[in-house]
Amino acid sequence: MGLEITRTEEVLATLREHAKRITAPKRAVVEVLVSADDHLTADEVTQRVQQLRPDVSPSTVYRILEELDDLALVVHSHAGQAAAVYHLAGRSHGHVTCENCHVTFEVSSDVFDRLSRELKSTLGFVLDRHHVALSGLCAHCQG
Ligand SMILES: [Zn+2]
Ligand SMILES: [Zn+2]
Ligand SMILES: [Zn+2]
Repeated sequence: MGLEITRTEEVLATLREHAKRITAPKRAVVEVLVSADDHLTADEVTQRVQQLRPDVSPSTVYRILEELDDLALVVHSHAGQAAAVYHLAGRSHGHVTCENCHVTFEVSSDVFDRLSRELKSTLGFVLDRHHVALSGLCAHCQG
């Protein structure tokens, strides 16, 4: 819990450094993202924010997520038809998303390291491993 408060204050401090106003909805969005240990769609962030502050609209949450994204405090990832998922920046990993149930799984960075090196040496291409998720079918949906 103490750690979560520290993390929240770090994010809010960065917003202040960029001369952004700290509104109550903004603090609520940051608190939701700090306490979440999974990948949340904007709708899921909105639902959790509304448990604390029922008056916050989905469009407000979208605008706040965009602002956090622009400052690289939040990262998002998406694949195919699935909605983008958001979480706080800082952990290096990749994503795979199921085309059928739209669940996103976190994949350790090691998996992407080889692909990353290969693309750099053959094409000079620098992979943004976090942004776009690889798509396919999860174990559950293959049946
Ligand atoms: Zn995107
Ligand atoms: Zn699935
Ligand atoms: Zn992630």
